[in-house]
Amino acid sequence: MDKIKIPKATAKRLPLYYRYLIILNEEGKAKVSSTELSEAVQVDSASIRRDFSYFGALGKRGYGYDVKNLLTFFKKILNQDTLTNVALVGVGNLGRALLNYNFKRSNNIRISCAFDINKEITGHILSGVPVYDMSDLKQQLSDQQISIAILTVPSSAAQKTTDDMVEAGIKGIMNFTPIRLSAPADVRVQNVDLATELQTLIYFLDSDKAKESDF
Ligand code: NAD
Repeated sequence: MDKIKIPKATAKRLPLYYRYLIILNEEGKAKVSSTELSEAVQVDSASIRRDFSYFGALGKRGYGYDVKNLLTFFKKILNQDTLTNVALVGVGNLGRALLNYNFKRSNNIRISCAFDINKEITGHILSGVPVYDMSDLKQQLSDQQISIAILTVPSSAAQKTTDDMVEAGIKGIMNFTPIRLSAPADVRVQNVDLATELQTLIYFLDSDKAKESDF
């Protein structure tokens, strides 16, 4: 499939659409309207139509979208028909929770190996995932052709670990540490921060309240 250039906001919404389409398909529904999708995924229907328009004529106005067609299409775009193995570096409180979760609702992503420096856990299997010593990083990533890693080490070790991961060939890092990592331009870093997410939620609730009191 040709690479389609789509806005970031659209790309973020694709997994939402995809998950809902799976549910519809399992329920045996053949068609879905943008209004129906809109209610289910909480995205306004104009944005949905615009998002879908980036992928060409996938639906007809007033007729709805064909669920199976959309599913096949999104599956390809989201690479859902290939399994992506990812590594987890730092098997502490957060790392173990993620290992235990291990993307159970996805058939296409899994943490297949974990790394730590703590000799008490290296060489063991936790939640079905082998935990290796950091000295095995390069070899394992190359053997398993892994290019994405989840980073859950203490802040003090974050940059050094990032350098090691980059040297070992990692191209995408999901960074749970509070450190803003420096990495080469061809390495993507996605920062995950629960405090920021909560802060955003608090901001929206406060501004909703302010709007209500304006009336
Ligand atoms: P933790 O201390 O329980 O676990 C850290 C693990 O990393 C330990 O197993 C330790 O042995 C290992 N480690 C230390 N140095 C290492 C190195 N050089 N290479 C490989 N492994 C190494 O910490 P935690 O509570 O699990 O938190 C982990 C990170 O996640 C911290 O940076 C914390 O600030 C962050 N965190 C982020 C969020 C968020 O919302 N983004 C939430 C909680 C924690």
